[in-house]
Amino acid sequence: MLDPKLDLIATQTPGFLSAAEGSMLQAAAAEAGRLGVIIEIGSYCGKSTIYLGSGANQADTLVFAIDHHGGSVEHQPGEFFYNPELVDTHGDTDTLARFRHTIREACLEHRVIAVVGNASAVGHHWAQRVGMVFIDGGHSMHDAVSDYRLWSSHVALDGLLAIHDHYSTAKAGGQAPRAIIEAALQSGLWALDREVDSLKILRRLS
Ligand code: MG
Repeated sequence: MLDPKLDLIATQTPGFLSAAEGSMLQAAAAEAGRLGVIIEIGSYCGKSTIYLGSGANQADTLVFAIDHHGGSVEHQPGEFFYNPELVDTHGDTDTLARFRHTIREACLEHRVIAVVGNASAVGHHWAQRVGMVFIDGGHSMHDAVSDYRLWSSHVALDGLLAIHDHYSTAKAGGQAPRAIIEAALQSGLWALDREVDSLKILRRLS
């Protein structure tokens, strides 16, 4: 359970995560954070980062929260999830200030390190032991496959791979997260550990 103050901040933060998904992320981070640091791909305004940061606090580790903070395709002007409150003085979508506000309010600045940039570029150079990766970045097939290929290999044995926005049918939602979950399960390296709403968490077997 989050403490009531963090719960309130999460509720007030723009984002696309249910409370049940947040609780599951927090518990998973508290557990897998004992194996290594936690990576978040796609932080947006920091809603999910609060839950991961809270779990990291319990495990005495860090969250590296990777996002270019320019918003995804669906956050741009004229698109479905465009939010005019998340635009900088140049008219560009910019979620970094809102993200920093969220983390500051949640008193998690000592646990959450913002990494501003492309997750694939960071993944190519990453060399630190990882306990858990949460993939919730670009939802195109190209981005999702790239994040999965680059980041799942960094997860320690018995560590966790969390993937958001799993939808069984194309009518219900984009199919890229489902595709990478199926690829992971078919590889034999991962098993489904827990799931709620559109969040699935896999455990590394070998
Ligand atoms: Mg998502």
